[in-house]
Order: sequence, then C-alpha cells, then structure tokens
Amino acid sequence: MKVELISSTSGMSDAVQFGMTVLLNDHTALDAGTLGFLWPIDRQRNVRHVFLSHSHIDHVASLPAFLDNVYGSQQQCPIVLAGPETLHSLKTDVFNDRLWPDFIRLSNHGPPFVQLRELMPFQTCDVGDLRITPIPLNHVVPTYGFLVEDNRSSVAFITDTQATDAVWEIVNSCKSLKAVFLECSFPRRCRALARQSGHLSVDTFSRETNRLRTDVPVFAYHLKPAFCEEIMEEIAGIASGTMSVARTGHPYQF
Ligand SMILES: [Zn+2]
Ligand SMILES: [Zn+2]
Repeated sequence: MKVELISSTSGMSDAVQFGMTVLLNDHTALDAGTLGFLWPIDRQRNVRHVFLSHSHIDHVASLPAFLDNVYGSQQQCPIVLAGPETLHSLKTDVFNDRLWPDFIRLSNHGPPFVQLRELMPFQTCDVGDLRITPIPLNHVVPTYGFLVEDNRSSVAFITDTQATDAVWEIVNSCKSLKAVFLECSFPRRCRALARQSGHLSVDTFSRETNRLRTDVPVFAYHLKPAFCEEIMEEIAGIASGTMSVARTGHPYQF
C-alpha cells in the first residue's frame, strides 16, 4: 500500500501540514485539507474517492477547489464519503451558494460535480484494491479514524481525537497491521488546550501509543504548525524505536 501525506507548505519542515490530506495508492484521499491546493492537477484527476474524517476546516478546506479543478476530467465525478454530521455540515456550511456554489444541487441538473455517500461506524467500504473501515473517535464533533487494508497490509489513520478505546480494539485485532498514523497536535505544556479541543498532546500521544500490542511503526501527524519544532523535539526524546514524525511528500510503502 502506498501512503503519501500531501504537502501544503513550501520552505518549511516537511513535518508541517497546514491542511490534512493522505493519499492512498494514488486514487483515494483521506481528508481534503490540501487535496485541491499546491498539488499537480494531473494527480488530483486520479483521485476518485475522498473519505472525510470530520467537518473541521483543516480537513475539508480544499474540497470545493478540488471538485472544481477535476470537473469534467473524469468518466465519473469524485465520490465523497463521510459520516452523516459531516455531510450535513458540507451541505449547510460549505455548498450553500454563499461560501461556495451548491455543487450538490448543480449535480442534479447537469454533469455532476460530486456524489455523496454516508459512512456508518465500523462498516467497511471497498474502494478498488482497498477496504476502508471508519472508526468513531473522541473529538469535539463526530469524527472517524480509518483502518485501511489491502491484500497484504493494514494501516490505521487516527485523527482528530483524544484517548479512545475503540481504536485500539480494532487496531490490536488486525493481523496484517503494518503502521499507525496517530495525531499529535500539541506539545506537553499545552495538554489542557489539547484536552479542551479534543486532541492529543505528546504525553497523551505517548500513552495511547503504549496501548498498541504489536511492534509496528507509529507516525505522529497533525502537528500544529505553531508547535511543530517543539513537538518533534519531545517525540525524539521518547525512548522508542518505533515512534517518529510523519513526513509530507515522501511516499511510504507498506
Ligand atoms: Zn478537528
Ligand atoms: Zn484537524
């Protein structure tokens, strides 16, 4: 399985992502924070399915631009999959003719811009060579993490969240697990802010990582750009051979 964190910055550390997008096997995206920005349009045209974790802007900001960019270039329009609350937010907060034209209404009257599909917790979706299972997380709005599987490997993508039990039950029962990407939004000194905003700080990130029962790499991602250097130093100081900070623009193979 090919996994690539899409870069949204230039001239900064490749650990920084202003918006979240993870590309899977070049054809499926998790989140659309940066999918439609600063990234070659030919590669955008290959993306057929976009799974959204939740409605926050760092996860959906570039979705309107992406749908605009690829319009008419694919045999079928992109399919956006998300939980019911996230779909509701897209309809009322984004595609409402005020913030952006109502692509959902327009899709009923001509060549469609987008097709929406609802994701239910723990119900696996088949997308080409991938199987993707939404796992409810513990954030300030309803949010899904994703377990992504192909015939050889499984990789978990867990953001945005505080501590949660469901993730580790699923991840620890997965026999082909090859890696976990786990959010680490704040350094230790911001643990109160992390808790209030439904995120992990380095101490809770470390605690959650210790619940993993297999010896696979854990990549920290979703580092808040303002604290990126500090978080990287703190993670480097944790004595663990399996923990590191994920890099954007660097395809991983699992
Ligand atoms: Zn969020
Ligand atoms: Zn976020």
